[in-house]
Amino acid sequence: MRVAIAGSTGSIGKQTLEVIRASGESSKYQVVALSANSSVDEVLEQARTYKPSMVAIAEPVARKKVAEQLKLTDPKIEVVDDAAQLATLADVVVNGVVGFAGLTVTMSTLKNGKRLALANKESLIAASPVVAPLRKIAGAEIVPVDSEHCAIHQCLRGSQNVSRDVSRLLLTASGGPFRGRTAKSLKDVSVHDALQHPTWSMGPKITVDSSTLMNKGLEVIEAHALFGVGYDAISVVVHPQSIVHSMVEFRDGATIAQLSMPDMKLPIAYALEYPNRSANSFGAIDWAELSRLDFEKPDRDTFRCLDLAYQAGRIGGSAPAWLSAANEIAVESFLAGGVKWNQIASIIESTMQHHDGQIPTTVDDILEADRLARVWATKISAEMKESQV
Ligand code: MG
Repeated sequence: MRVAIAGSTGSIGKQTLEVIRASGESSKYQVVALSANSSVDEVLEQARTYKPSMVAIAEPVARKKVAEQLKLTDPKIEVVDDAAQLATLADVVVNGVVGFAGLTVTMSTLKNGKRLALANKESLIAASPVVAPLRKIAGAEIVPVDSEHCAIHQCLRGSQNVSRDVSRLLLTASGGPFRGRTAKSLKDVSVHDALQHPTWSMGPKITVDSSTLMNKGLEVIEAHALFGVGYDAISVVVHPQSIVHSMVEFRDGATIAQLSMPDMKLPIAYALEYPNRSANSFGAIDWAELSRLDFEKPDRDTFRCLDLAYQAGRIGGSAPAWLSAANEIAVESFLAGGVKWNQIASIIESTMQHHDGQIPTTVDDILEADRLARVWATKISAEMKESQV
């Protein structure tokens, strides 16, 4: 199986390479293409190890460096600028690009009628109006590489008729590093604090999203887009152990859950191997060690991002695109030390007040929604930074 990895130097990309490495010397997987933004040394090392036919580098200076280096050692590897080209070479594309930039990979994979192992939630959230029709193309399919959606994907295999049988999707949330904290006690938390995720090892943007529960909010929108279930039938339940990765409740009251140790390699291997199961185990539970599983309601007053996401999801149209873009800006400002943690929700809320109610029908419409939201969110972040001094 020919695998292309978009965002190969990020957290999902590296773990995909680990999954492929774990499948052994005579692996049926062949890494045919890689893409990265600007991590020159890392992508060079990956290219020399896996010998893909193509490497796409977005950032021009980095691309030039990679091209010069590979010309000396591996002249057969083609270096291109656009990660959308990856899909032409592969049977499955793993989209591990962080943020809105992942949209072109999502679209080109589906247009090429290939399987998309999707870890880039923003592209689906922001661009669902243009991505949804592409899923009807022959051969095009999305297998989610997000632990919750991958869990739901697995649980739904227990039904022949999802729209008839499913009464509720239950997305589990670890609660992040600040679970149980009051809004007041979170006033002055640092970037370092927000990056201490209790159960998952992930990139910085998603780890901050997890600390605000925006990650879960985006996942609610993602679940709506992926599985076609209405917002009233999608619930969030906090489950600090991160063993139950999500659940589906059926109309007869039966709930089917997917359990495994928290390791993203399992969803990655699932998406590569579907409809079969990976021969390697990435998350078997030691039941003698596991003493309890806890569940609780999310604290929606302290973690306001969750309801902001539900609101944007229910508005639909370009509102999820606005939400996602505003969140990216707010998190960037927080990581750069510009604004406080509790201002992330405020930036998003204020940005959404400027949402213009557009219904996007083209990629350009979505790009415009993304751009506009960023303009507002950047302005609002700057104002909040000012007001602190
Ligand atoms: Mg997740």
